[in-house]
Amino acid sequence: DIVAELRDISISFPGVKALDGVDLVLRAGEIHALMGENGAGKSTLIKALTGVYAIDAGTVTVDGSARRFAGTADAQDAGIATVYQEVNLCENLTVGENVMLGREVRGPFGISWRATHTRAAQALAGLGLRIDPRSLLASHSLAVQQLVAIARATVLDSRVLVLDEPTSSLDRGEVEQLFAVVRRMRERGVAVLFVSHFLDQIYELCDRITVLRNGRLVGEYPTVDLPRHELIAKMLGREVEHLDE
Ligand code: ADP
Ligand code: MG
Ligand code: MG
Repeated sequence: DIVAELRDISISFPGVKALDGVDLVLRAGEIHALMGENGAGKSTLIKALTGVYAIDAGTVTVDGSARRFAGTADAQDAGIATVYQEVNLCENLTVGENVMLGREVRGPFGISWRATHTRAAQALAGLGLRIDPRSLLASHSLAVQQLVAIARATVLDSRVLVLDEPTSSLDRGEVEQLFAVVRRMRERGVAVLFVSHFLDQIYELCDRITVLRNGRLVGEYPTVDLPRHELIAKMLGREVEHLDE
C-alpha cells in the first residue's frame, strides 16, 4: 500500500536547482532509505514532504489525497511525523506531556494531568519503552528524547515517520534501541523514511533505497538487490572498485 507519493518534485534556490523532477514512494510497513552524496537533495526532499519548503512543481499525495502543505503543522495534520537530529520537544515539560502535546493542542478540550500521563505511558509501553512519563524531558539523553518524539507520532496516528540522520550522535546501544522502535513502527504499518550516512545502518534496517544525485532521481531499489558497491556507484555516478563485502 502506498502511503505517501511525491511525483516530479522540483525545488530551486537562487542559483541552484536542488531537486529536478524527483519521485519518492513510501509504502505502509516499509523502511525506506534516502541516499545520496552531500548536496544531492535529501534534506530538501524531506522538507518538501514535511511542509518546511513549498514545492515549485510536482505533486505530494498522502493516503490518496493531493496535498499542498502550508507549513509543518499542516504536514503533521496530514499524518507526517518528523524526528530530526535535534529534537524539537519542550525540555521543561514532562515526557508524558511531550508525548501528548500534539494531540492536546489539537482538540478543543484538555485532558487531566493524570490522564495525559496514563495515555503517554500506554504509548511508550506500546513501543517497548521503559521511560517514566512523569520525568522531565530535559533529564533524558538526546537518544531517549528521540524515542519520545516517536512515541508522540504514535499518539498522533502518524502514517509516515521521517528520520533525518537520527543516529549521528547516538552510541551503538542507543542505535539498537532506536532501530527496535523503528521496526515496531514498521510492524504497525507506518511508512518510515530514514536518512543516514552510515551504510551499515541502511543495510541493517531498510527495505528499499531511493538514490538521488545532483538533485535528480537515480532510481529506487529493494535493498537486497543492491550490493554496496552498486549503491556507491549510483550515488557517485561512476563505477567503483568492487571491494570485498
Ligand atoms: P543533502 O541533504 O542531500 O546533503 P540538500 O537538500 O541539503 O542536500 O541540498 C541540496 C542543494 O540545495 C545543495 O546545493 C544545497 O546547497 C542547496 N540548498 C539546500 N537548502 C537550501 C537553502 N535553504 N537555500 C539555498 N540553497 C539550499
Ligand atoms: Mg547536506
Ligand atoms: Mg541533508
